[in-house]
Amino acid sequence: MSTCKKCGKSSTKIAKVLSLCAECIRKANGKCLSELREIHAQGREKFGLAGLPPSAPDGIQCALCQNKCQIPVGGRGFCGVRKNENGHLRGGTPREAAVSWYYDPLPTNCVADWVCAGGSGAGYPQRAYRAGLEQGYLNLAVFYEACTFDCLFCQNWRYREHSMTNQTHTATELAEAVTTNTSCICFFGGDPTCQLPHALAASRLARKQGQRRILRICWETNGSMRPELLDEMMGLSVGSGGCVKFDLKATDPNIHYALCGVDNRRTFENFAAAAEHIPERPEPPPLVASTLLVPGYIDAQEVKTIASFIAELDPNIPYALLGFHGDFLMKDQAPTSRKQAESCLDAAKTAGLRRVRLGNVHILR
Ligand code: SF4
Ligand code: SF4
Ligand code: SF4
Ligand SMILES: [Zn+2]
Repeated sequence: MSTCKKCGKSSTKIAKVLSLCAECIRKANGKCLSELREIHAQGREKFGLAGLPPSAPDGIQCALCQNKCQIPVGGRGFCGVRKNENGHLRGGTPREAAVSWYYDPLPTNCVADWVCAGGSGAGYPQRAYRAGLEQGYLNLAVFYEACTFDCLFCQNWRYREHSMTNQTHTATELAEAVTTNTSCICFFGGDPTCQLPHALAASRLARKQGQRRILRICWETNGSMRPELLDEMMGLSVGSGGCVKFDLKATDPNIHYALCGVDNRRTFENFAAAAEHIPERPEPPPLVASTLLVPGYIDAQEVKTIASFIAELDPNIPYALLGFHGDFLMKDQAPTSRKQAESCLDAAKTAGLRRVRLGNVHILR
């Protein structure tokens, strides 16, 4: 049980790290927003990560994501992986990325497994090896060790310990990890955004090496990249039978800022731009959305707004609502309740979406 420092309300749904209820965050301005900024800066300090995107007037600008860091000589960007070394921008390039990978036998626990070629056989025989579950094949899961966001509930938060590592891999090394029975690559993390030059180069090499074999290119992302890079990602996914999975965390800008430490405008603009590619290959769906149901903050009201936004673009875009469990700086937060999940599911359907589903059902309270 925590108390909101603005209105005095006590509830199990108020996260201790924020000590603010959703209503007060929605109304926040000035001082309250600076307090939220400080919460994120403090959490990042122990990993050596910048509290805010650097803005050195004579630094080098990195334009990979919405943060547009101006990185001073010897400094690093907000993500920690991009750095200015003697006037040269390094990190996340085809020559060096903070990345690791492993093989995940299909079918795998993927946010799009209920609609994708690997989990459902959609697109068989052109895009999938089997008409149903793609048993006998592998997903190459590629974990990028940095992120452009700073979510307080991050379930993969340990990447923060490796964002500045010197142990890097080239795009060629990654492409060579694709075996003859690998039928999809999923780029996630952290987030692939801040190392997209590496991921895009590896994807192209792997596709070229595989020639006519099925090799789907998929992404799990917060959607904060430069729009031209998103176009390249969509092109690779559409052409290969894969998909881009956007995590749409919150529409309310203050709730998004409180939970993720950054603005949400670019994510929603990019999602709308990605939807324009759907007619190029409608099935299996090239664009999938998901939202983590954070108790107390991401309620039916939030889900309804997100779902309405998606439905206006295309009511057939698949949307997964994911059960939350406490992690990282929101460890004290209880898991999503079944009641919250069901009301969010109803809200998404009422907003007009035709393909909605609850994920992580086993952790619902
Ligand atoms: S990728 Fe990293 S360095 Fe580049 S703008 Fe984004 S946060 Fe800053
Ligand atoms: S990586 Fe793509 S094709 Fe493979 S299981 Fe995930 S969404 Fe499906
Ligand atoms: S976008 Fe994902 S990986 Fe990045 S901080 Fe948020 S939850 Fe963690
Ligand atoms: Zn309050």
